[in-house]
Amino acid sequence: MERITYFVDVLLPLPLPGYFTYRIPHDFSSEVKFGTRVVVPFGKSKLYSALVVRVHTDAPKQVNTKYILALIDEQPVVSEKQFELWQWLSHYYMCEIGEVMAIALPSALKIASETKIMLSPEFDGDISTFMPREISVVEALSYRSAVTVDEMAKIAGVQKIIPVIKSLVEKGAVITDEEIRDPYKPKVENYLSLTNNFTNEQAFYKLLDDLGKSKRNAKQVDLLLSFFMQLQERKEEDKPINFALSLPKKEILTRANVSPSRVETLITKGFLKEEQVKVSRLSSYDSYDETANIALSEEQQVAMRQILSQFEDKQTVLLHGVTGSGKTEIYIKLIDKVLSEGKQVLYLLPEIALTSQIVNRLRRYFGDRVGVYHSRFNEFERVEIWNKVLNPDDFSQESSKYQLILGARSALLLPYQNLGLIIVDEEHDASYKQYDPAPRYHARDSAIVLANMHNAKTLLGTATPSLESYYNAKQGKYGLVELTKRYAESMLPEIWLVDLVKATRQKKIEGHFSQFLIEHIEQALANKEQVIIFQNRRGFALRLFCNTCQTMPMCIHCDVSLTYHKRSSLLKCHYCGYAIEVPSECPTCHSKDIEMKGFGTEKVEDFLQERFPEARIARMDLDTTRSKTGYQKIIADFENQQTDILVGTQMVTKGLDFDRVSVVGILNADNLLSYPDFRSFERAFQTLAQVSGRAGRKQIPGKVIIQSYNTAHPALEYVVGNDYQAMYNHQMAERQQFKYPPCNRLIKLTLKHHKEEYVTAAGNELALLLQQAFPGRILGPEFPLVSRIQNQYLKDFWIKLDKNQQLDIEKAKLKALIEHFRSHSQYKSVRVVVNVDA
Ligand code: ADP
Ligand code: ZN
Ligand code: ZN
Repeated sequence: MERITYFVDVLLPLPLPGYFTYRIPHDFSSEVKFGTRVVVPFGKSKLYSALVVRVHTDAPKQVNTKYILALIDEQPVVSEKQFELWQWLSHYYMCEIGEVMAIALPSALKIASETKIMLSPEFDGDISTFMPREISVVEALSYRSAVTVDEMAKIAGVQKIIPVIKSLVEKGAVITDEEIRDPYKPKVENYLSLTNNFTNEQAFYKLLDDLGKSKRNAKQVDLLLSFFMQLQERKEEDKPINFALSLPKKEILTRANVSPSRVETLITKGFLKEEQVKVSRLSSYDSYDETANIALSEEQQVAMRQILSQFEDKQTVLLHGVTGSGKTEIYIKLIDKVLSEGKQVLYLLPEIALTSQIVNRLRRYFGDRVGVYHSRFNEFERVEIWNKVLNPDDFSQESSKYQLILGARSALLLPYQNLGLIIVDEEHDASYKQYDPAPRYHARDSAIVLANMHNAKTLLGTATPSLESYYNAKQGKYGLVELTKRYAESMLPEIWLVDLVKATRQKKIEGHFSQFLIEHIEQALANKEQVIIFQNRRGFALRLFCNTCQTMPMCIHCDVSLTYHKRSSLLKCHYCGYAIEVPSECPTCHSKDIEMKGFGTEKVEDFLQERFPEARIARMDLDTTRSKTGYQKIIADFENQQTDILVGTQMVTKGLDFDRVSVVGILNADNLLSYPDFRSFERAFQTLAQVSGRAGRKQIPGKVIIQSYNTAHPALEYVVGNDYQAMYNHQMAERQQFKYPPCNRLIKLTLKHHKEEYVTAAGNELALLLQQAFPGRILGPEFPLVSRIQNQYLKDFWIKLDKNQQLDIEKAKLKALIEHFRSHSQYKSVRVVVNVDA
């Protein structure tokens, strides 16, 4: 009797079309199933972890179909619905599904023969539970660092090595590629414990007594009492208090309400000792479940009821609520409801790094059920989260199943099983769109598609809706719920415009500050209130300028000027990282008459410090927040009123909630408005309205002062009038007239090549093809604002499609056209990048 031969179609994380077929050896044909990974040979002797898509018996036409070499997983690592989303992303955003796999799977799930591996610096060397083959790899790795999987197979003499490495990564012993390049830094916290002399009851009480004899020691006693109370709380039933425990320092300080210097005293006196303890980022939190304690206001209750009733016949609802109206509180109530129905919730944020505030807020209510998906986690943790999302009902992980996942756009790609709700917070934010690499997806739009697949609902929330979402709501595609008042008594801030032309003429200006703004800062400081000064990123950089030949040093790879980085004292390129020492003369004409020009946050900070020597000033921008904890500290200090003035870029606009900000100053609104992009008007409005929204969020009334050389600009008028509707109407008229989204669909093509002539010639050739296929709908070819990046010249096209044109057909046409170009053109080496909904 002849045995049936099974074949398997697999997906590889490569930018190649379609699936690849392999033969399954008879002895494991029953174990290969959708969503598991197998090791396959590909190309010249390379090995990959491939994802099983379909098992079948259709023998391929070519004769020598290769065998799969090994199985990696027993259980699927990808869910069916997740895979459905991958297919949609690849189809809609016109890329290969292998490209989706490449960004969706954590690198530890994509191990291939070229993947570099090394021993994890975290690994404690305990191999007692390891299998013999795992031990061989660990031993071989202890002599070498960063070898490829391929080399390791030879060194350790292990044949089917990929499953072995998978297991070692899961055990935390081995790290791969991504980690090696961008090593993970463990999170540490300071812990306090009693020194050995005092770790018994008697000694401890005696210590308290002795200290208590002098009033001067009152604070130290408070601190020890706080320590003691927490020991008591951690006491196990039927056991005495364990006086040797270490406890988190932060908690002790907050509860005792004393300053850190008291701890120092106790340490110097030899009573306490301090140590650093590594804490898992997935560490558990007590669930306080305070959801019952939120009492929604009248207005919020109405909004909540409207959302629920609109969800009955709409899959998506837009919650348009002014800043500080309590959208987050409404989200929390909704999340609570969905979780209690046993479903998962995804909470998307534009930039997870900036939102420790929200993470903490949600953890207060949902404790352990909150999982945060973060590109800054190590791969072991990422795989762990991945598995917890994939198996929410796995009771072996009872204590920490993630039902609420908080994350930035990539969290969309996790293996959800049963989503009930997706919240897209700050839905207007541009960082929801991925630009590079493919898939160039919009997380808001993709979230709606994903929710649909799960039969779940999507709530879009913002104070400044994107035109796209508002338009969809107006068309009745989405539900619309509005909150027009701030929570409680707090009022929307007053907004003032300062005309910089006039102020300059009247000499009422110091540095870049109008007298009007200065006076208000002064007043706020006198009242012990806080100030935020906003300077957007574009106006931010210092550049070296030659007064003789009027040029600036440029990047040699990109068409941009180099900007000054004070910390490293280098001139650097923002796009490619090229850097030079600050020259002592002009590189072009050798003149010595050179100076730094520009008007960065750093300069603003210096000016303010000079002008208000008493004020405590902090700066939040790319430079000061490079480290993971940088922004957290800056935000925490500002929250705790350790800082009076916060100077910052766009970062200060994103959803932060402070209590005592009475003045927000915007130094120059014009450079937000002058950017040549069809969305710049809308974005300027959104940014200004969001920054303004940081003022006066609680009892203290807020003032916003916007400086501009062009105070008559309509965008400013709408911001001052807090008139979203007017901005919408104004912009929609323009979009209609010039056929831009949301009235039309936009696909952008970018040509890239290191030879300028090639890009130009290819552009001309493609222009003809495009105009034939899409008559009257092509804009371009045009050089973008920065026309060379990393030695690649760029040229852009835009295709404007009617909403009522069948998108699928048009895209198929475009795809065929690009394929034709790629196979026939004499310039086929020119890359064509497709960006749908750019
Ligand atoms: P938004 O997200 O709309 O900007 P938030 O949800 O951050 O607004 O609310 C603004 C502030 O008002 C927060 O400090 C929040 O804690 C408080 N707040 C809003 N609603 C309530 C409520 N129902 N009960 C108590 N505090 C609330
Ligand atoms: Zn010069
Ligand atoms: Zn460069």
